[in-house]
Amino acid sequence: MIKKSILLTLVIFINLFANQTKLYFNKNSISNAQTAVLYLEAKDITNPKLTILENKININFHKLNGKKNIYYALVPSSYYDINKKLKIIVSYTKNNKKLFDSIYLNVKEGTYKSEIIKVKSSKVTLNKRTKKRTKTEYSNAMKIYHTFTPKKLWKDKFILPLNSPITSAFGTKRVYNNTLKGYHSGTDFKAKVGTKIIAANDGIVVLTKNRFYAGNSIIIDHGQGIYTCYYHLSKFLVTKNQRVKRGQVIALSGKTGRVTGPHLHFSARVNSVQVDPLQLIEILNNL
Ligand SMILES: [Zn+2]
Repeated sequence: MIKKSILLTLVIFINLFANQTKLYFNKNSISNAQTAVLYLEAKDITNPKLTILENKININFHKLNGKKNIYYALVPSSYYDINKKLKIIVSYTKNNKKLFDSIYLNVKEGTYKSEIIKVKSSKVTLNKRTKKRTKTEYSNAMKIYHTFTPKKLWKDKFILPLNSPITSAFGTKRVYNNTLKGYHSGTDFKAKVGTKIIAANDGIVVLTKNRFYAGNSIIIDHGQGIYTCYYHLSKFLVTKNQRVKRGQVIALSGKTGRVTGPHLHFSARVNSVQVDPLQLIEILNNL
């Protein structure tokens, strides 16, 4: 009898909580550099946010299209988050009270390959001037990725920047002159010089610049912390601050920057973190 009443109390207690809020991921675990979608179902709340404790990244939730009381947030994992359990703290306001909840995201090691890249030694051992240049270019790019446009600037599904075979996958461990120098931060598409490159979705061009590693580069802000990047271009067909449409030709591909041959390097950032662009597109298109 006592046992039964304890069980009943427990069931009521669980139901009470279940009715209040639900917090769940689209997947229980992801690979390093993939993005997860965190859903929050709650009534009469405002200002839902989360923090990834591991790297102190703060992310806003957004209302899920056409769904009442359901919010989503894009939770990126970095390439270096291997075999980690990321603790996510969620907060929101209800009845003038700030409430908290938490959930873990499991990040396993992705099955990324290794490859050896041969480039001119002058490009590997940078001189003082080039070091300064790459440092400035990196900090300017990080400033962009940390700028958050709250509005969602796209409507339709994301598309690939060109229709062409992938020549180098995202995440491949990169070895230059027998030294491990990080990983391949984007997806390479086969593209002879002069191939038309299109915008993956609607957005605002936030960078058109020649940079040491990436060559002629375009970055598009799609809003909600999402950026897509197009590198090694031969010609820009858009300018900074220009609004672009999904599928609009933005540039011609090329072989500028640190490359061994012509191709398009396509990459993406979510809430400042570099992620697998094709996996990001997949989850965005399934929202
Ligand atoms: Zn690349």
